[in-house]
Amino acid sequence: GHAIKALDASKLTVQLADPTAREVPDEATANAGDETICTDHMITCKWRAATGWETPELKPYGPLSLMPTASVLHYATECFEGLKLFRGYDGKLRLFRPNLNAKRMLMSTLRISLPGFEPEELEKFITTLVALDGPKWLPRDRPGSFLYIRPAMIGTQSQLGVQAPKEALLFITVSFMPRMDAPVGGIKLHTNPEDMVRAWVGGFGYAKVGANYGPSLLATAEARARGFGQILWLYGPEGYCTEAGASNFFMVWRAKESEGGQLQLVTAPLDDKLILDGVTRRSVVELARKRLAGEIEVVERKYTIDEVVEADREGRIVEAFAAGTAYFICPVSVIHHRGKDLQIPMGKTGEIGQLTAKLKGWMMDIMYGNEQHEWGVVV
Ligand code: PMP
Repeated sequence: GHAIKALDASKLTVQLADPTAREVPDEATANAGDETICTDHMITCKWRAATGWETPELKPYGPLSLMPTASVLHYATECFEGLKLFRGYDGKLRLFRPNLNAKRMLMSTLRISLPGFEPEELEKFITTLVALDGPKWLPRDRPGSFLYIRPAMIGTQSQLGVQAPKEALLFITVSFMPRMDAPVGGIKLHTNPEDMVRAWVGGFGYAKVGANYGPSLLATAEARARGFGQILWLYGPEGYCTEAGASNFFMVWRAKESEGGQLQLVTAPLDDKLILDGVTRRSVVELARKRLAGEIEVVERKYTIDEVVEADREGRIVEAFAAGTAYFICPVSVIHHRGKDLQIPMGKTGEIGQLTAKLKGWMMDIMYGNEQHEWGVVV
């Protein structure tokens, strides 16, 4: 028989779009409409269990064709990634640690019985696609701006039997940031309704699968109707703090005097597989450990909302922020829990705390080329 083919970026075929067919919108309208605006091209690659990955195609952006019985439409055999392409102040285009997104995509893929691949090949697709569309869609006169890259994989086999799909499709689009109602200044968090949970031990909260997101929209919509931006997801009867919306969550506080009183940056741990291993989270943790050593202790541990409430009562909360690709590093101004608003300090300006600003600044310097760093990958 024939060998099962691996995903191979060197086999990419290229069909170029008419460059005049799609116009780059001005920045004001780019993220505002009801439809996400994508760039000229996308990459697709089909997979079949019997033969492996087919020839990958780079082609004009356009609709996909699926049978109504396709696995993804019934059983949520879908996973995705999200990363940005940055236009640097030095004129260069950069990705931020794309190897981490590629590896995470593989992890998510395997969690929902979709086919494996070499993460380096996915990374090559991403680089090729943004090298082609980046120069037009992120003009040089827009330094400090970015595009959003969305790799995804779906089970396409047209078979309603509940089973691992024998056909799949990998696709990558590049777009303006999807509409997010990004908060100005701080974001207000509301803890989840007591009868809802985002993830659970033994579940798939750590994987970037579509099945994690649709069911969270209801709680978010309820919180929005009450004037809050995102849900602070708690877990278990203890009320462990896990994530804020589709971002990781950090508290900056002083430990109790009885425990030493030191300044701490605290975030939920990865080991019980409740939260996504965010690229932003990981980078914040690594930068803080390296550059704030001696100043602040970085702690990845389980901590409860009651500890946050207690820290608030004792005046120990210094700052809080959400961290993810979409909202980036976003200061938290309020945490609402069981009828009470905890006011979180927002720094001297009332816009962002000092530590949050420092970490955000370091990350931006790397993303936009003000600092040459191995995390900023020039394309
Ligand atoms: N948690 C969840 C549930 C997410 O969807 C995301 C966004 N990918 C994050 C955290 C942040 O991860 P990253 O920093 O890699 O964007």
